[in-house]
Amino acid sequence: MHDIIMIKYGEIILKGLNRPLFEDRLLKNIRYRLKTLGKIKVVRYQAAVYIIPESEDYDYGEAIERLKKVFGIIWITRAKRLEKDIEEIKKQALECLREAKENGGKTFKVEAKRPDKTFPYKSPEIQQIVGDLLFTEFENELTVDVKNPDITVMVEIRDEGAYVYANRIKGPGGLPLGINGKGALLLSGGIDSPVAGFMMAKRGLELMGVHFHSYPYTSERAKKKVLDLAEKLKEYVGRWEIYCVSFTDIQLMINEFAPHEMLVILMRRYMMRIAERLALKNGASALITGESLGQVASQTVYSIGVTNAAATMPVLRPLIGMDKEEITVISRKIGTFDISIRPYEDCCTVFVPKHPKTKPKEEEALAAEKLLSEKGIDALVDKAVEEAEIILI
Ligand code: ATP
Ligand code: MG
Repeated sequence: MHDIIMIKYGEIILKGLNRPLFEDRLLKNIRYRLKTLGKIKVVRYQAAVYIIPESEDYDYGEAIERLKKVFGIIWITRAKRLEKDIEEIKKQALECLREAKENGGKTFKVEAKRPDKTFPYKSPEIQQIVGDLLFTEFENELTVDVKNPDITVMVEIRDEGAYVYANRIKGPGGLPLGINGKGALLLSGGIDSPVAGFMMAKRGLELMGVHFHSYPYTSERAKKKVLDLAEKLKEYVGRWEIYCVSFTDIQLMINEFAPHEMLVILMRRYMMRIAERLALKNGASALITGESLGQVASQTVYSIGVTNAAATMPVLRPLIGMDKEEITVISRKIGTFDISIRPYEDCCTVFVPKHPKTKPKEEEALAAEKLLSEKGIDALVDKAVEEAEIILI
């Protein structure tokens, strides 16, 4: 019998009647992510998922790397499946603790579970027998700590066999992707928006992306950077579509006919409208941005209020209360940071005014937009939506 991969999921066991829905989605996502690695059997049993590979040479390492990016998973372990024989179990427990010790740790305990009540030893007895053995064997190297051990050697006696394991690898937590519908992420090339997308995907929201460029004022390189970010996020969100919208004509018109201190806020309002239309067309029911309160002039509470008023969908801003420091930590963790810091020209920075308003009013925006409407901006908005380039990542 070869090894299995055992997965525990967390939050979703709290969801009462919705639980089967959550579990089905998690299983579907796991199957999808592991599809290319070879045949497996996926079994669900008491808040755990067992992945049973059908071949000896299964790439466990790669499978675990992928599972570390499947939302809903709390931890992952590679476990030995054994005959339900106490001698076998003892032998394997020794092996497991030796291995776990190599990875660091000074204290341990043994924990046993026995869903199969026909096994002749009760859980406390298994703990005793295995614990005594390990204690004697590692007397000079490890001490027992039942409250907060560095290493927990787990023994599980189930119907189909016994499992022994010690190393638990942390999963990403959160809720299975797709369980909360779909959101349109306004994806720039910066540090913030990819993190915002990651955070909402972690809450179960499937993503589509909307990126605004001002070609030829922004370069092909700037677009490539956004696509590279999207590629990185794909490891978490699976295949997804990015809508690349040409914003040049709209920006030029705003630049020509609107008060300069209102440029950014007006641009942001048109971005919201275009993103919302693309979202509606594609079954998304929320917008997501990387805004963080007070970060720049367009992110004061007043500016956000005026930007928000242009959208009718909920606008999710998961970074709103976070410092750049905190955002950067996540950005590094998910691997987008190094891409985000590549030099680039963003469509917003091409046309930035020297003194943006920090306390804009909606009336001022509406007045400016009235004039822009007369100049024909609405047709440009229609065109931007219709001609958006769809890139499947
Ligand atoms: P980021 O680091 O994500 O670029 P930022 O701190 O530079 O954010 P802004 O440029 O004010 O802040 O943008 C705020 C949010 O608006 C971004 O997080 C993103 O969601 C959206 N946004 C800005 N520029 C673009 C763009 N060119 N295309 C799509 N969305 C954009
Ligand atoms: Mg930006």
